[in-house]
Amino acid sequence: MRILSGGISHESNSLNPIITGEDDFVVLRGNEISRRSVFSRHSSAGIIETLQKGGAEVIPTVLARAVPNGVVSAAFYGKIKAEMLQAAGEALKQGPIDGVCLALHGSMKVEGGLCAEGDLCLALRDLLPGIPFTAALDMHATITPALLRAVDGFAGYKTAPHVDSFETGVLAARMLLETLKTRKKLYTASRSVPVMIAGEKSESAAEPMASLLETCKALERDSGTDKTAILAASILLGFPWADCEYNAVTILVSAFTENRAAADKAARDLAEAFWRRRKEFSFRTECYNSREALAAACTAVLEKGERPVFVSDSGDNPTAGAAGDATEVLEEILRIPDRIEKLPTPLLYSGFYDAPAVAACVQAGEGAEIAITLGGNWDKLNGKKLPFRVRVEKTVRDYGPYKSDLALVRPALPSADLCNILISVTSKHIGFGDENLLPALGINAADYCLVVVKLGYLEPCFRKIAARAIMAASRGCSNEILETIPYEKVKRPLYPLDPGMEWTPVV
Ligand SMILES: [Zn+2]
Repeated sequence: MRILSGGISHESNSLNPIITGEDDFVVLRGNEISRRSVFSRHSSAGIIETLQKGGAEVIPTVLARAVPNGVVSAAFYGKIKAEMLQAAGEALKQGPIDGVCLALHGSMKVEGGLCAEGDLCLALRDLLPGIPFTAALDMHATITPALLRAVDGFAGYKTAPHVDSFETGVLAARMLLETLKTRKKLYTASRSVPVMIAGEKSESAAEPMASLLETCKALERDSGTDKTAILAASILLGFPWADCEYNAVTILVSAFTENRAAADKAARDLAEAFWRRRKEFSFRTECYNSREALAAACTAVLEKGERPVFVSDSGDNPTAGAAGDATEVLEEILRIPDRIEKLPTPLLYSGFYDAPAVAACVQAGEGAEIAITLGGNWDKLNGKKLPFRVRVEKTVRDYGPYKSDLALVRPALPSADLCNILISVTSKHIGFGDENLLPALGINAADYCLVVVKLGYLEPCFRKIAARAIMAASRGCSNEILETIPYEKVKRPLYPLDPGMEWTPVV
């Protein structure tokens, strides 16, 4: 049994002007995919481990991953697609291929608007007709007709923040092994629900996602006793920061063709339930505009003694593909110097994506005081280059799998001394949700009373130490208030852009 594997993973934010290119991706080729542990919890690892345990020979092709960012360069996507097709072609020369199982995100967009996963999977399908093909998807996948035509069975993440990527890979691989073992064909029921959900309203621990996902899990559990024989039930939320005609919530339920009716019913019921509960989606954490969020955080620290208090600069969340250099929240911090100076520890801001600033810090060295600007290199709509004199507290070279340089700086006000603020800055667009990033700079976030982070919902590493989490609905490319985004391509009517719309699922 020879199974082709590999994948592409990127969440492309079409509001962000950055073009995500080759330098932003980590690309693993051939046996590197299973050998290297950089993505040991990724769905790809779950796929490969499960296929190998199931006795299959895995043919690894290419696995390309980057942190969410602007759309992907057409040249780079073309190169990865050609490499994957070439690897598949070479494998075919060695003998027949029995199945395909890919690790995909589902919301990768290429310059010009192409939805990458559908395009890639259709090309593979042309080369490998008639064999079963399954895929693991991120919960924020955007389901397109091309993807549905190419792939037989899908498994989507059931957690946000995402902590079940590996397990989702396991499910996608199991589905493939099962269909090969039984020689039964796979069928996927698909129901699109005309809803967009701001990322921070979709945490899997909060209602209504918690019970909708529980329904999916129950359907999958019941397949063990063959009551419904649903192999995988997934809610794919789409990605609201891409302006795309397919943006919607999609329910996918995969089963063997003999259980088609059960899959269709489950998909329709889930779609109906999702629509019925659409108005219940809300921010789990308290949410204010940037000024109010900072005021609430300062009051919590200074008057109530709460610490650490976290403020998410949610409109400029690089892990949702925003540029990471919008400056609204930093400007608001600079408006209240008296409050900031009273904080018992420096305000920790993690951070900014600013390659020129980091390069200047690395060149000057730790302890140097230099003039830099922060912000506004990319997101010129919501950011500007703010000039600072800073002391370079620490620098780190080639951090993490994406090999970003890091700097920790302490800015000074134009007129005065170093202020009570520390800012982490990255030379690559790697985001600020990684639990090892601040420790690499010698920082333990728990030691700080007020931590501002360019994130939406807090990743588990921050949540577990946060005495209080406040979300700033700031301006940026991951603006949480979807009604204010000037979409041009999404299909209308679409909730919540058209709040009064009616909809019933097609039977
Ligand atoms: Zn996601």
